[in-house]
Amino acid sequence: MRKVIVTVAPVGSIPTREDSPHIPITPDEVGAEARRSADAGAAVVHLHARDPKTGKPTPDVEVFRAYLEAVRSRCEAITQITTGGGAVTLGLSPAERLRAVVDLGPEMASLNAGSMNFGRKVFANPPDVIEMFAREMDSAGVMPEFEVYDVGMVANVERLVLEPGLVSRRPRFGLVLGVAGGIPATVPNLAHLVSCLPGGASWQTIAIGRHQIPLGMVGVVMGGDVRVGMEDNLYLSKGVLARSNAELVDKAVRVIRELGFEPASPSEARARLGLADPMAAR
Ligand code: ZN
Repeated sequence: MRKVIVTVAPVGSIPTREDSPHIPITPDEVGAEARRSADAGAAVVHLHARDPKTGKPTPDVEVFRAYLEAVRSRCEAITQITTGGGAVTLGLSPAERLRAVVDLGPEMASLNAGSMNFGRKVFANPPDVIEMFAREMDSAGVMPEFEVYDVGMVANVERLVLEPGLVSRRPRFGLVLGVAGGIPATVPNLAHLVSCLPGGASWQTIAIGRHQIPLGMVGVVMGGDVRVGMEDNLYLSKGVLARSNAELVDKAVRVIRELGFEPASPSEARARLGLADPMAAR
């Protein structure tokens, strides 16, 4: 039976408590949400850091460390740190975006594979930044997940990273659909993105807003993994806020099981992604 890797993105860098009173902000809150989500079937936790006092995104390595430790001490899930979050919201430099990844060594990190409009702003990821992030992640032993927001970004990954051999691992993609400025969240668009991926790549669907679970499940049927969580979607159903990220994981896992698949455990996910199992090293 195929195992589906479920990633939870509990907070991201955009939603605020005004958007939803249920978003987790502090390391303790994110750690608790990670644990609940892992218990519900999530194998990967995608992390942003927020200043615990202001709730605003921060690139501070020590704050990232607190989030990482809060998650690692509570569950076995794979940790993945963003390198994109602060670019749009804080205007961080590439070095600032990368610092927590290099200093803290999460198992995975996001690597945004092109420049685009992002809402009313510009999300800048020029070729030299993509190449530098790929090199630095590879030498730090961190697996990149290439976040693509449109078809041309798949080609960027092939041309800039895979053909020159900048990363030594099987490529993994996050197909992001529904950001204003990126490819819209439709079934034909998802199918086209998947058809453009290089052979042997693993991938997950990251659909924004109300598309999160429906389009994510189309991706599951097509052989992909799925990301859910409040970074991308605050609602459990129309007009009903999710009270916890675990509710979103739980809903995705219910459908995954109804479709005849199972959620991958963290160690099953590590085996499939080619990550070393931290339990095996103990
Ligand atoms: Zn993110």
